[in-house]
Amino acid sequence: MTLFLSQMVTFVSHLRRWVWQQRGVAAVVLGAIALVAALSVPARATVVQVSPLTPQLGDTISVVIHADAAVTMPPSVTFGAATYPAFAIGTDRYRALVPTTPLDRPGRKELRVIGMGAPQTTTLTLRDRSFSTQRITVRGGGSGATEHELSRVNQFKQLVTPQKYWSGPFARPAAGRVTTPFGVRRYYNGVFAADYYHKGVDYGGGTGAAVTAPAAGRVVLVGREADGFVIHGNTVGVDHGQGVSSIFIHLSRIDVQEGAVVAAGQRIGAIGATGSATGPNLHWGLYVNGQSVDPVPWREQGFE
Ligand SMILES: [Zn+2]
Repeated sequence: MTLFLSQMVTFVSHLRRWVWQQRGVAAVVLGAIALVAALSVPARATVVQVSPLTPQLGDTISVVIHADAAVTMPPSVTFGAATYPAFAIGTDRYRALVPTTPLDRPGRKELRVIGMGAPQTTTLTLRDRSFSTQRITVRGGGSGATEHELSRVNQFKQLVTPQKYWSGPFARPAAGRVTTPFGVRRYYNGVFAADYYHKGVDYGGGTGAAVTAPAAGRVVLVGREADGFVIHGNTVGVDHGQGVSSIFIHLSRIDVQEGAVVAAGQRIGAIGATGSATGPNLHWGLYVNGQSVDPVPWREQGFE
């Protein structure tokens, strides 16, 4: 009887593995069908590669467009109500980066490539994902941010430049452990904050510990607490190009100037507790076309 049970367990585990394998095969087959469908479009054929095929909330979706002829204008991609620019990443190849966030509604979504003859539409499923929650008690109101810091930070997040600075996966910008991951949701005084999520990753570490650029880029924002960055504290913003940027806040020291081009791993400042911080920590926010996305896929697989 015991033997039979253990055989059953083995059988079930084989069965589960088989089911997973079939799902993998199905994904590959669907991908192949998508490619063939794109290839069968007559004249000015375009092939569109979307990855990941089943993104989850917070993922960045890469849309690579292969064009068979020289196009006069780069194509763009629409997803939901937004349109995202594609940039050249090689000969007759363009790529658009589509951000998703914890505030998006999961489910079937239409992704459309426009500007390359007839629009091409692909449907993909944005998977739900659970994020951990924090319960915060606050007294009084108002964020207290100055107009100056809000306008400079908002301007920074909207910046989209065609040059691509980064290559390969991003590195961690601090050596300390992650104290708050991306996407954490909050209850304020017991009420769920529907429009809040943690827009970055927090790293612990003592005041003065090095903060390094996770990827190459150009420093486009330096803000100081003394100049009105009362919530962000001392801040550095790095443009990685093609709609991708990083912001580092609460710094104790800033080692770069606006306009400087930084290499991956180059020191840009030091961990601190400036601005609205409960203790020394680095908050790293990664933005794609204006939206805060999960940096983990950028650190693990990276984007070409
Ligand atoms: Zn944070």
